[in-house]
Amino acid sequence: MKLDNNIPYKLILEENEIPKQWYNVRAHMKNKPAPLLNPATLKPMTADELSAVFCRQLVEQELDDTNPYIDIPQEIQDFYRMYRPAPLVRAYCLEEKLDTPAKIYYKFEGNNTSGSHKLNSAIAQAYYAKHQGLKGVTTETGAGQWGTALSMACAYLGLDCQVYMVKVSYEQKPFRREVMRTYGAKVTPSPSDTTAVGRKILKEHPGTSGSLGCAISEAVEAAASQEGYRYVLGSVLNQVLLHQSIIGLEAQAALNKYGVKPDVIIGCAGGGSNLGGLISPFMGEKLRGEKDYEFIAVEPSSCPSLTRGKFVYDYCDTGMVCPLAKMYTLGSGFIPSASHAGGLRYHGMSPVVSQLYHDGYIKAVSYEQTQVFEAAELFAKCEGILPAPESSHAIRAAIDQAVKCKETGEEKTILFGLTGTGYFDMVAYEKFNNGTMTDYIPTDEDLKGGFDGIPKFPGNE
Ligand SMILES: *Cc1c(COP(=O)(O)O)cnc(C)c1O
Repeated sequence: MKLDNNIPYKLILEENEIPKQWYNVRAHMKNKPAPLLNPATLKPMTADELSAVFCRQLVEQELDDTNPYIDIPQEIQDFYRMYRPAPLVRAYCLEEKLDTPAKIYYKFEGNNTSGSHKLNSAIAQAYYAKHQGLKGVTTETGAGQWGTALSMACAYLGLDCQVYMVKVSYEQKPFRREVMRTYGAKVTPSPSDTTAVGRKILKEHPGTSGSLGCAISEAVEAAASQEGYRYVLGSVLNQVLLHQSIIGLEAQAALNKYGVKPDVIIGCAGGGSNLGGLISPFMGEKLRGEKDYEFIAVEPSSCPSLTRGKFVYDYCDTGMVCPLAKMYTLGSGFIPSASHAGGLRYHGMSPVVSQLYHDGYIKAVSYEQTQVFEAAELFAKCEGILPAPESSHAIRAAIDQAVKCKETGEEKTILFGLTGTGYFDMVAYEKFNNGTMTDYIPTDEDLKGGFDGIPKFPGNE
């Protein structure tokens, strides 16, 4: 492996160089993301209405479209020091393997027990709940990464944590479930008979294996019906992107320290939080006209919200209890095929990412899962890290960019987000290794079924 004289394998930041403020990209967006709407009145949700469901200070962050920098409370900074700065790595070995003139960097967020970037927002949300004097929080989890991250954060702060876990994952991922329980979380398979919405869904669809949208509805109801509880969400919301900006800020600080400027920045997109967090500070520079970058969102072909969805107001959950969000969506009733990248199986997309994509600042591509696992395998062999299936979408796109550079001779600098590790996804790797992994691309007919469930009101098409 040949190392560049000026660039080490790891671009090291010291602990005291971890950013002390989050960056709020909304402050520099000309077209702000559309406000959340009350589904009953179709009026923007007020802070009071939102505070019934979410923690007070998180509501403030949710509605803040103007302050570019928001101080990270000292206690959160201290927690970040336990596992940050996250490594920024030059993928020398992968570059050599691809024989590309491109320079590839990745920001690795899987270096904590939860195994993903989700801990960055989990600790923030748990902190504000604690600060408000609440007893606990409720949430949903699909594949389990968010539930794990939140369980860790709540254990650290002494908060009660109730997780509604999509039933199919609850049964198929017992190890994730037990990690959460070890951290003290109460884990309930969803749909369950512990909530009215869960009972309703069970009655209408007996034997259903559940969905993320359904688990959200249950978690929201559980929060609203218990004194001293609020609901927290691991992606999509503005506040989550704000917390995740720590990824981009650190990456930017480390690159600046070594005089590196990326040309292309790539992230996988489920609800949009890691992508939004990684690109935020760079996007800020682009929006302010200081520097230019190409941004690429990568999604699974089986759940193509950006590449094939509609930019409209839609429900965030199957039970239709949450506010309406304006976003790229496949419809809250869309059930993607059972792909292995559980974290990318959400029907919608962050309103911030959606608006930036709509305004042409971000490109989007989609890949089928076997292509993604081919990239994962190559990456694991070269760089040693066993990537999460979600993260491997970004790897695939980065590899394709680098291969293109080989053809054109361009020496592009590529940065991508490696959001987590795949140790809980070995059933997926097993299918890939056995050659039994399948791909499913939804037909236009499949998508139409989801679009039909989008709420109809004037201006919403
Ligand atoms: C949850 C998750 C994602 C997708 O979520 P975003 O909100 O789109 O970032 C990606 N990678 C991993 C490892 C995850 O756990």
